[in-house]
Amino acid sequence: SGPELAALVAGGAVDVLDFPKPGIVFKDLMPFFGDGPRFRQVVDGIVTHYGAGSFDVVAGVEARGFLIAAAIAYATGVGVVPVRKAGKLPRPGFSASYALEYGEATLEVSEDAFVAGQRVLVVDDVLATGGTAAATMDLVERAGGVLTGFTVLMELGFLNGRERLSPRKVHALLTV
Ligand code: AMP
Repeated sequence: SGPELAALVAGGAVDVLDFPKPGIVFKDLMPFFGDGPRFRQVVDGIVTHYGAGSFDVVAGVEARGFLIAAAIAYATGVGVVPVRKAGKLPRPGFSASYALEYGEATLEVSEDAFVAGQRVLVVDDVLATGGTAAATMDLVERAGGVLTGFTVLMELGFLNGRERLSPRKVHALLTV
């Protein structure tokens, strides 16, 4: 259930004060990823939420989004597309720059990452200001994908990222 999944995420999260900059409370989800049953139940919960067959490919945001995306892709038998930080792609790609809660960033996706019309589920670990998510969804659409949904393990509600992404729907397992 929703509350059970939220508790599984919460139990695997550690607050790290002043990382990577003073004033930021970094949500470290490595204990969550390191806990097999916890990780599996949450991945299964995401698949159940959307329904296997409702997306053709999963896109994950570097780097923690890769972990979730690959697990969902394997569980449902679809492919996985990495949305990468700048300068990592070996071939031409689309690029989007944006402001982060703690800095600036550019994301890139390969030009041929998606088949036109492919339904794409986008995943990341934490939704903060929504800049990363907005840039990622923009890239997916520019590359020819059709957005099925956007899922995060944890949403920082006070930063209003969800509003910024409206009318696109955000599915968060846990909102703090
Ligand atoms: P944003 O673009 O502000 O929504 O930031 C989301 C991206 O930055 C995600 O890829 C997160 O992994 C990372 N991030 C931002 N803020 C935090 C935080 N407080 N704790 C953990 N990760 C964060």
